[in-house]
Amino acid sequence: MEKKGHLIVISGFSGVGKGTVVKNLVEKYGYSLSVSATTRAPREGEVDGKDYYFKSVADFQNLIDYNGFIEWAQYVDNYYGTPRKFVEQEMTEGRDVILEIEVQGAMNVKRQYPDAILIFVAAPSAQVLRERLASRGTETEEVIDKRMKRASEEALDIDEYDYIVINDELEQCVQNVHSIIVCRKCMRENNLSFIEDIKRELQAK
Ligand code: 5GP
Repeated sequence: MEKKGHLIVISGFSGVGKGTVVKNLVEKYGYSLSVSATTRAPREGEVDGKDYYFKSVADFQNLIDYNGFIEWAQYVDNYYGTPRKFVEQEMTEGRDVILEIEVQGAMNVKRQYPDAILIFVAAPSAQVLRERLASRGTETEEVIDKRMKRASEEALDIDEYDYIVINDELEQCVQNVHSIIVCRKCMRENNLSFIEDIKRELQAK
């Protein structure tokens, strides 16, 4: 029986550690990860094609014009988008794909793919979030302030997500996200064609 992969959208406040959570999900459980395009400058250590596809604004605009993104959004002062081709191909081949994207993008995906699993990763508190952003050491005070402000706006959208996972202890957080996905995939309404098939097979016996 052919089975299409699921779309898993993971959002969370900047600095909450969702990148690490996603990396663990990919390594431990073999999820496929979509690499986004962005107009933001690379941070130290970031690799083009692995962390992001780093684009000029003109190239990014071009991709928008050619319907190259499933969704795109502006975040702080930059553009971010999910390349369409990779995601559609992976899903067609039956692989579950993780998108690590912000709230506007998540809502956009939900409209197009109502079966997408939307998970929000939260910090245990605002204080912990600020500490984590500062401890990265890659952002200026001004950027940290902007991101905290943005986080307070994003908090208003938490209600749009299906699941909330608190990233207090990494292992536990990763396991919780994986459990949510497994559980969702096991739901009866996500297995209707299997149910039909097995009924038919058994009747034919
Ligand atoms: P950062 O600059 O810290 O890497 O990412 C900033 C925000 O953009 C994060 O919330 C991240 O999840 C989000 N983001 C990354 N890629 C995409 C994307 O393709 N689409 C959207 N909508 N958001 C993205």
